[in-house]
Amino acid sequence: MNERELLAQGALLLGIELDQKQINQLLRYKELLLEWNQKLNLTAITDDREIITKHFLDCLTVNKATNMKDIKTLIDIGTGAGFPGLVIKIVYPHIDIILVDALNKRLNFLNEVIRELKLEKISCVHSRAEDLGKKEEYREAFDMCASRAVANLAVLSEYTLPFVKQGGYLLALKGQKLDEELEQGSKAIQILGGKLEEIVDATVPFTELNHRIAKIIKVNKTAKKYPRKAGEPTKNPLGV
Ligand code: SAM
Repeated sequence: MNERELLAQGALLLGIELDQKQINQLLRYKELLLEWNQKLNLTAITDDREIITKHFLDCLTVNKATNMKDIKTLIDIGTGAGFPGLVIKIVYPHIDIILVDALNKRLNFLNEVIRELKLEKISCVHSRAEDLGKKEEYREAFDMCASRAVANLAVLSEYTLPFVKQGGYLLALKGQKLDEELEQGSKAIQILGGKLEEIVDATVPFTELNHRIAKIIKVNKTAKKYPRKAGEPTKNPLGV
């Protein structure tokens, strides 16, 4: 199976039909990632096929947790090299997306990919989640926050739930430690106005990876005092 087939068939297994433009964009994204990775520390995965499976298809497991067609605005907190937000943008171009990361160097890479692929309705913000979450225009402003590999759920909820509208969702792409994280983090989720709606298990096609996606609905507004100041959520996780 060549790379195009790997991508197309893997996406189909997740219920997504990619068109040729999207496949070209994802493969170009992969090339840029490998190129920039020689200068910046963007990813530990450097095999072409593994980038397709363990980054691209991995991010697209979100399709198993929700109907992405219903989402209009999305924020990705701690996006790193664009996972999952930039992959979501390519595959669901109708969504308005904000990518957030505390490391500016990574944003330079993301802006280059956005420019090369001529992506619209997507922007990058250099900030810590705790600072951005205090800004009025970002608070309770998004249908969805999607996040992968940033922090445990107790901390991640404080980073992300302030951005989500009431009735919107946090999708936390997690692994096999989710139950443990939920035990620790359920109090924080509740304090911040969220409620676990569902855990969705999703296998990443052509890998041994099994994701567990925590689908958390925002039921109440987040109190103004959250997020606390930068660093505080990790130092002293809520409700733990
Ligand atoms: N989400 C990407 C992925 O799955 O490949 C990147 C994961 S990387 C392990 C974690 C990223 O989160 C880093 O790029 C880091 O700079 C960012 N990050 C960690 N804490 C953050 C915070 N408080 N606010 C914004 N970004 C943060």
